[in-house]
Amino acid sequence: FNVPTPANEPVKEYRPGSPEREAVKKALEDFRSQETDVPMYIGGKEVRTDRKLRIAPPHDHQHTLGYFYEGDAQHVKEAIQAALTAKDDWANLSWEHRAAIFLKVAELIAGPYRARINAATMLGQSKNAYQAEIDSACELIDFLRFNVHYAADIYRQQPASSPGVWNRLEYRPLEGFVFALTPFNFTAIAGNLPTSAALMGNTVIWKPAYSQILSAKVIMEVLQEAGLPDGVINLIYVDGPIAGEVIFNHPDFAGIHFTGSTGVFQQIWGTIGANIHKYKTYPRIVGETGGKDFVLVHESANADEVATGLVRGAFEYQGQKCSAASRAYIPSSLWKAVEAKVKQFLGEMKMGVTEDFTNFINAVIDERAFKKITAYIEEAKQNDTVEVVAGGNYDGTKGYFIEPTVLLVKDPNYRTMCEEIFGPVLSIYVYEPSEFENVLQLVNTTSPYALTGSIFAKDRYVIEHVAHTLQNAAGNFYINDKPTGAVVGQQPFGGARASGTNDKAGSALNLYRWVSARTIKETY
Ligand code: GLU
Repeated sequence: FNVPTPANEPVKEYRPGSPEREAVKKALEDFRSQETDVPMYIGGKEVRTDRKLRIAPPHDHQHTLGYFYEGDAQHVKEAIQAALTAKDDWANLSWEHRAAIFLKVAELIAGPYRARINAATMLGQSKNAYQAEIDSACELIDFLRFNVHYAADIYRQQPASSPGVWNRLEYRPLEGFVFALTPFNFTAIAGNLPTSAALMGNTVIWKPAYSQILSAKVIMEVLQEAGLPDGVINLIYVDGPIAGEVIFNHPDFAGIHFTGSTGVFQQIWGTIGANIHKYKTYPRIVGETGGKDFVLVHESANADEVATGLVRGAFEYQGQKCSAASRAYIPSSLWKAVEAKVKQFLGEMKMGVTEDFTNFINAVIDERAFKKITAYIEEAKQNDTVEVVAGGNYDGTKGYFIEPTVLLVKDPNYRTMCEEIFGPVLSIYVYEPSEFENVLQLVNTTSPYALTGSIFAKDRYVIEHVAHTLQNAAGNFYINDKPTGAVVGQQPFGGARASGTNDKAGSALNLYRWVSARTIKETY
């Protein structure tokens, strides 16, 4: 169990003229100068169909990045068969040999593939260079390295024995295949969901969001280069209900590793429940879903720190993080100072394409998101109890661009304070300092979610009181910091209530879900 000590991958800054910026510029150019062909990968083979769908950057409708091939129910069946065929050899390989492959994947991403995976994320998912770097390079590398470290901890845990009795725990993979259903917003999460289950000896069907397919292909290239055996991770692009129909009716379905919307997760859970008698084993259900993440500000807070936290927490990656700050509660005594600073920051921020490294704000992911987010903004504009403090404009003609928008609401239960928007919209309720206890209750009850949240305060008694009162309101709770940007190995990430099963990604808690232990008692 002597595994390399993991360290977080240092974040590169992409300053003008730096080697990392030049490398990413070249990788962007490589993607832009040719159309990338993106097959499915089933049993290690590239699979193409006659349903060829176009990939375009969310910030540039005119440009074709490439094409991917959509599969059907037959491809899902083939992927399951490939996973089941690969299963025994993979499960019987000693865990160190599995781990070595994923450590190699981390090194390839840290080195030769870094620019390529970042460029794929910048173009395919409209992330700026810095957001791509912290996600598709650093966080993915960290997941891979830290998971190996946590796996070693798990395999090391053994029960007590007594004279004449030797007890062992064998950490077997699940009996069957695992389904990884992954989101567009983090290349790291898309890469972590299949690889963490595979590290523990499972074989996997991986279905990414269609808007993350370019960077998913790069991950697959790296997995193959690192020597992942055929059939261990099978990457398919199939419409959700078609894939679900095959997977959730299959007797060997053994677990789902999911990040996505609360609605889809609840539907899947219901389907699994309805089919429970069809499976050989109770499937593991692990999901990270929505959020309506809060920033609660106390009058003892520092206004500049609050403004920085709000702007970064709400608007980095256009607010498309489950963890994004989307509702804030600010005392009237601080509001003017916070408002001025927020407006100043937003005034300095540029919006545009990712290839221009100076744009902080890029496009939202697709037309559906654009319509949903702008509908909230339009409704807010019509409502007399809401004031648009900043932003509010949008333009979908060249790309799906929406200005960072700040809404000041008179009603703390107005819908943008309660519902997940998943875009660059921050709602703020200004309260009288004497109302603080009521506001604390509001924070706890306004939304069904419990993913992330922040308290900004200098008064230690207040911090302690808030942390205690809101103990179930956020799986990741921040004191004097924005509620985004959890770092693997430092702040294990996940929430409860409607936000998920809270099996903290990038921790032993998560990896335990992908093993089914056999206890062996031997008398001698
Ligand atoms: N782990 C990310 C963060 O802390 C959020 C993940 C997500 O959006 O699903 O910001």
